[in-house]
Amino acid sequence: MCACGRPKFECRNEANAGLYEVADITCYASAAVEEHTGQEKFKPEPGQRFYAKEIDEELVTRRTFAPRGSEG
Ligand SMILES: [Zn+2]
Repeated sequence: MCACGRPKFECRNEANAGLYEVADITCYASAAVEEHTGQEKFKPEPGQRFYAKEIDEELVTRRTFAPRGSEG
């Protein structure tokens, strides 16, 4: 695998040159963490790790059923 998440044969293949474009999507869980860790005065304690925790699990929109292979 390449760092981009695709098989190297695919993304590093000259036959595929020009077949990709830039897109973006927002992960709101990561946004919450990055807003905290990106603050100017941010200074973590040794070993301190940050993760996104639901404020209220019942308010989070989730899939109730996902057919096989559609996760993600
Ligand atoms: Zn790649």
